[in-house]
Amino acid sequence: MIIPKTKDEIELMRESALVVSRTLGMLAKEVRVGVTTNQLNKMAEEYIRSQDAIPGFLGLYDCPSTLLTSVNDAVVHGLPTDIPLKDGDIVAIDCGAIKNGFYGDHAYTFEVGEVSPELKKLLKITKESLYVGIREFKAGNRVGDVGYAIQQYCEAHGYGVVRELVGHGLGTKMHEDPEMPNYGRRGRGKKFIEGMTVAIEPMINLGTHKIKQLSDGWTIVTQDGQASAHFEHDIALVDGKPELLSTFDYVYEALGIKSDEEKEFRS
Ligand code: MG
Ligand code: MG
Repeated sequence: MIIPKTKDEIELMRESALVVSRTLGMLAKEVRVGVTTNQLNKMAEEYIRSQDAIPGFLGLYDCPSTLLTSVNDAVVHGLPTDIPLKDGDIVAIDCGAIKNGFYGDHAYTFEVGEVSPELKKLLKITKESLYVGIREFKAGNRVGDVGYAIQQYCEAHGYGVVRELVGHGLGTKMHEDPEMPNYGRRGRGKKFIEGMTVAIEPMINLGTHKIKQLSDGWTIVTQDGQASAHFEHDIALVDGKPELLSTFDYVYEALGIKSDEEKEFRS
């Protein structure tokens, strides 16, 4: 059952989402050659607690960390390690926070040092596909419209769209109804309703869409060993239109990137 939120609840959810946005912005300055994902994890936990919030992943489904850090061929759910990041790596950082009883859940894939043009393009298209999907999260549409849009956009570039892991409703629980796949058929699935809040999160592979899980019981990697990217935003359906609750602005400020990609999704 989809749980719509009141305007006041949506404002609380924005606060939770922004805790994560600021955490990603802080991490953007720290992601570099030689840093370990365990170090990033520790910084993120301290930062989230400093914001009167609680790490959202830690302990959820027995997750042992604040961040999930997925390097190169890891798709999502990578556990932080003591392995230093190398020049040319990409690292998807997924972060959750709970504030006022509501979850924020938001992810960005960072470049480490100098990344190949092939990987830069994967990151660009995956992030663009996130906005292509968000644009379809509007009154009158259904879950399949978002998935269809993301799938078409990414497959047109020859990329693999992960099937087994999906976006989701978000609220007082990390995973609420509905599931939000990154693939689908137009006009199919649950109908969107005013006040609902979701996390949309394309997980896009350079090669095959097929994945497997590592023996750590967490990390999902591509079957062909090629790279994968992941971007995630939290969005509310307000006045029939998608309104972003999270933002990459803190990341862009840290990295010196100019972007107006979020403008159309602001009230
Ligand atoms: Mg999520
Ligand atoms: Mg996430």
